[in-house]
Amino acid sequence: MIEKALRAANEQQEEVVRDVFRKAGLLWQCKSLTCRFDNTPAQELCEGCGRQRDGRRVGDRVPPSAHPDDFEDLRALLKEHFAYQGKRLPDAVTFEKDFGNEWLSYGATLHYGPRTRFHDFGSDVEEALCDLGRAEPGEHLRVALSR
Ligand SMILES: [Zn+2]
Repeated sequence: MIEKALRAANEQQEEVVRDVFRKAGLLWQCKSLTCRFDNTPAQELCEGCGRQRDGRRVGDRVPPSAHPDDFEDLRALLKEHFAYQGKRLPDAVTFEKDFGNEWLSYGATLHYGPRTRFHDFGSDVEEALCDLGRAEPGEHLRVALSR
């Protein structure tokens, strides 16, 4: 519906239409002044630049059920992992859960600005994830590496 409305609008109307959608909560505009991309509510991170809704760089999502020390251990391990492989450090890594609410070492999302790609980690990361313990429903796990 949003795309249809934007297609129907001419250049002058487009900004008005976008503004209406933003006010109605159907779009959120990136707060980064160099980006200003309009994202849909389903988009947690900006599609244009990869920043968070509040304009900050992609940050941690620490599951409350996990111990902060175990979370920091995971961060250190992930930094080591990319350094050891000589690969560019992603801004952050997001992990998924299986149906039993265990964190998965495979199918993780690597965030590089607006670009993401999937990555399967090995047994070292699997162990570190195991140390975090079983997740509670609704918890998310994202580890920022760019700081
Ligand atoms: Zn943006």
